[in-house]
Amino acid sequence: MMMNQPLSIIEILRYACGAHPGAGLVSVRTEGDIHRETYAEAYGRAAQLAHGLGKLGIGPGDRVATLAWNGYRHFEIYYGVSGMGAVCHTINPRLSAEQMLYIIGHAEDKVLCVDLTFVPLIDALADHLPKSLQLVVLTDRAHMPDSALNLLCYEEILAGEATQYDWPILDEQTAAALCYTSGTTGHPKGALYSHRSTVMHAMTVAITLNKSLKEGANILPVVPLFHVNAWGLPYAAPLVGSSLIMPGPKLDGASLYDLMEAETVTSAWGVPTVWMGLRAEIEKRGQPPKGFEQVMVGGSAAPRSMIEGFEKDGVDVCHAWGMTEMSPVGTHGQLSEPMKSLPWDEQMRLKSLQGRRLFGVELKIVDEQGNPLPHDGKAMGELYVRGNTIVSGYFNNPAASAKALDAEGWFGTGDVATINALGFLSIQDRSKDLIKSGGEWISSIDLENIVMGSPKVAACAVIAIPHPKWDERPLLVVVPKGEDKPTLDELHEMLLAHVAKWQLPDAVEFVADLPLTATGKVSKLTLRKQFEGYQLP
Ligand code: ADP
Repeated sequence: MMMNQPLSIIEILRYACGAHPGAGLVSVRTEGDIHRETYAEAYGRAAQLAHGLGKLGIGPGDRVATLAWNGYRHFEIYYGVSGMGAVCHTINPRLSAEQMLYIIGHAEDKVLCVDLTFVPLIDALADHLPKSLQLVVLTDRAHMPDSALNLLCYEEILAGEATQYDWPILDEQTAAALCYTSGTTGHPKGALYSHRSTVMHAMTVAITLNKSLKEGANILPVVPLFHVNAWGLPYAAPLVGSSLIMPGPKLDGASLYDLMEAETVTSAWGVPTVWMGLRAEIEKRGQPPKGFEQVMVGGSAAPRSMIEGFEKDGVDVCHAWGMTEMSPVGTHGQLSEPMKSLPWDEQMRLKSLQGRRLFGVELKIVDEQGNPLPHDGKAMGELYVRGNTIVSGYFNNPAASAKALDAEGWFGTGDVATINALGFLSIQDRSKDLIKSGGEWISSIDLENIVMGSPKVAACAVIAIPHPKWDERPLLVVVPKGEDKPTLDELHEMLLAHVAKWQLPDAVEFVADLPLTATGKVSKLTLRKQFEGYQLP
């Protein structure tokens, strides 16, 4: 038998120091400038942080929370905190104040590290924060803000500490990081990642998404470090020797384009809404940023028109699917070698699906009685997943944990999907967003994807409106691109090339913008509320 050496997160960074001495982090700082450090420097600073946190009373299992953009200090917290045996709890700053306070209380955070940008937010919440919570601002003394609160300075915590730390040898099942789902219904629920699950996720992501993740690559995580560990990039990138270009707070198309061009970004990761902004900028400037090879898109369905736009510009698109509970990557859209010889149109069709499973992730779709359905690209059912990087329950939440898995230990995703014979997953909807019309289902994602192909549409969403005869019927909500709005007839004509007549939306409504969730997805819940009582023609 072989040795049983526990998998450990800090080992990734220690390895990167020796294996990839030239790689590291480039960060747009909240202070306004660009900061560079190698992984070896980050490793030393993670050690200093661990010493400093020890002096603040942090010990094994304690939760250290962050409210921060993508930057090197956030990265150092990832490693320093997990490395010392504590738990790095990333908080999404776009959550409501109520949800944020709930999470801080539920996680029993001992320390909260905040970027300069979020100090006013903490000031506003001050009366409701636990008195014992220690607040650290991620900056140096010169930039420390005025505040009535007792704020500690990150750089002072590190200053003078040793750049070596006697990292403890931890059981690989030790908790390393905590991330709450955005909780569109009920309270947010915590996914607690272990050292083992995190290292395994990093390794599978690194071997699978190897067009992005390779030695010498410059990867731009637009996906935030506060949302499911930026899809695992802070772990996978140092493992393979890719550098991370951390964009800080400015995520509009022009800012991203300039940063990508300046830092020769080879691959960029984020949700479709961000890439719509970058697409507009690319169209304005006539070409993609130089050196840009691949865009990784996930979090919600990538419209085919967007995929084709990038591909025509020579940028490969990889459409992935996953969730907070899955660390998060579950499937990926990289085509196999034989698929690359298929006609362009067929390749684009495959790329607009949510891709094939990663090693270690099993997928099944089931009917309403829980019976497995065939992988024929037609049978549609609720998607269940199983694997080493998937939650077995929720942090300190027995009620939600009891409902998380089925009798055979599969996790119910709440997504409704088909899987085709090639193993490609096609997400039809979240089960609560499906439109149930006359006993049949209409996929809102399908309709949205097609409508996004109209040059007159900037964004759109399809929601269910109650109907006396059919139960529910689809309403299309559109953000027009310019003055010339598309008519319902025009949109129907586009849709009829792909869907049946009974699936066509009954009406179209125009809005200035769509409500977004904390993770930048269209909030169908808010939209349904907005159109409550809506009368279909
Ligand atoms: P939140 O629930 O906070 O939005 P998650 O990232 O955990 O955060 O959301 C996971 C859900 O996002 C999935 O269950 C699925 O419904 C949706 N999703 C993720 N990636 C895709 C994708 N590529 N296409 C369609 N839906 C997606």
